[in-house]
Amino acid sequence: MERRLFRDVPERDWRDPAWQLRHRVRDGAALARLLPGLFAGTGEADRVSRAYPFAVTPYYLSLIDPDSQEDPIALQCLPREEELRHSPGIGEDPLNEEGSMPVPGLIRRYADRCLLLATGECAVLCRHCNRKRNWKARRKRMTWREFDAAAAFIEEDRSIREVILSGGDPLTLDRRSLRRILRTLKAIPHVRMLRIGTRIPAVLPMAVDGELLDLLREFRPLWIATQFNHPRELTAEAAAACAAFLERGIPVVNQSVLLRGVNDVPEVMGDLLYGLVEAGVKPYYLFHCEPVRGVEHFRVPPGEGTALFRKLRKEISGLALPRFVYDLPGGKGKKSLESGTDPGEEGDELSFDRKGQID
Ligand code: SF4
Repeated sequence: MERRLFRDVPERDWRDPAWQLRHRVRDGAALARLLPGLFAGTGEADRVSRAYPFAVTPYYLSLIDPDSQEDPIALQCLPREEELRHSPGIGEDPLNEEGSMPVPGLIRRYADRCLLLATGECAVLCRHCNRKRNWKARRKRMTWREFDAAAAFIEEDRSIREVILSGGDPLTLDRRSLRRILRTLKAIPHVRMLRIGTRIPAVLPMAVDGELLDLLREFRPLWIATQFNHPRELTAEAAAACAAFLERGIPVVNQSVLLRGVNDVPEVMGDLLYGLVEAGVKPYYLFHCEPVRGVEHFRVPPGEGTALFRKLRKEISGLALPRFVYDLPGGKGKKSLESGTDPGEEGDELSFDRKGQID
């Protein structure tokens, strides 16, 4: 696909993940220069980035339609004034992740699995991120002392069968650190599988190179959970990255977030889901967007999400259909929205917190 932005960048640089990371767009002046149709000046970007910084790889920025104010890729990565409009009662951590950590960086909520926040770094800062409260933290990486404490906790708790690496994006870690983390976790006998949650295939697919794939395949069974939210993210490069995981025996599932203006139309969501299946990626979850400060404008009104899902369920293959769920406030588990109930109503329960309770 011909690039509308960054046309002069040689192909060799373009395909180099280090070049992409070095040239991330992170200030209002660069946005105004690259996307004059979307940013008349630097005011909006500067104002928003004081609260919520932004960073976009040239690759992901090149997927934007520079003439469209409501482009679904731009909505996901470029700062918007709406991020600064907060409703009373909407907090930064509605799932109480900070209160669910027995040791720093380890979220222990479900019976047989835990979440390790190994790094706060991401290639692109997604505007809908439910952990954007951490973006301004001075220290991004877990220290090795913290990691050792988390690993010791996991070793002690024999009910943990799966460790999910999240963050931030664990695939932004340098390869040596990633290997050390995976090797340590893999050596714990009751940890039977590893999962890595990552946006890299969507925002920096050139980082999925032979070295990374060889590293990851050593630690199978290991699953990759991607986050594609719009069919235009499924470029040839992104599909190739997913195929490369699959060729190494690393299954890939996708977790999308239902986002207003991005994928809240059945035709768009249908294209995304079928595109994923064509790429060999199983749509796993569709999350109803959580009430997080700075993310509210992405929330689809209750009722619309369930109506959309009901339509999808009637019209598309079961293989392409994800579970449609909502994370309950306070970290009380996941609730299925598939039977048509709204997030605020009583409904089907899908996953439970560790006490087996939803309410
Ligand atoms: S990659 Fe994940 S953690 Fe990072 S900003 Fe995007 S949604 Fe948030």
